[in-house]
Amino acid sequence: MGSLFEVLRTKLKEKGYKLTTQRRVIYDVFIENTDSHLSPEEVYEMVKDKYPEIGLATVYRTLQLLDELEVVSKINFNDGCNRYELNTNTDDHQHHHLICLECGNVSEVEIDLLDNLEEKIEMESDFRIIDHNVKFFGYCKSCDEKKSIQ
Ligand SMILES: [Zn+2]
Ligand SMILES: [Zn+2]
Ligand SMILES: [Zn+2]
Repeated sequence: MGSLFEVLRTKLKEKGYKLTTQRRVIYDVFIENTDSHLSPEEVYEMVKDKYPEIGLATVYRTLQLLDELEVVSKINFNDGCNRYELNTNTDDHQHHHLICLECGNVSEVEIDLLDNLEEKIEMESDFRIIDHNVKFFGYCKSCDEKKSIQ
């Protein structure tokens, strides 16, 4: 995953920032948890072991910076906090999310049939769409099974 670090280093440099240890360890968490959608508190918990001097405020600030640099993306899952995930820059288009209303679990959907819908909306609304961002709310398998037992 050396190339992802190069992306971070280059982007920091472009904006006149340095690759500090704090920024590095926080970015590390995302490289080690590519499928996760982490809140600042969760990132803090993971970083604390390796880097006990770090404070939650620093984590907040660093996440904001990484989001500005577009190396991570901020997503709001309506669960009362902002979450962040690694932006691998392989595709401009962000995948879609399935959000469980019971346990808060977030999973990702790769299937995307929305291009047709975009075309239709563009024709009917006189609006040029450049992207979309979709969240599906419902119940994950294990929550759904629990619900049907009750
Ligand atoms: Zn669930
Ligand atoms: Zn995601
Ligand atoms: Zn899509």
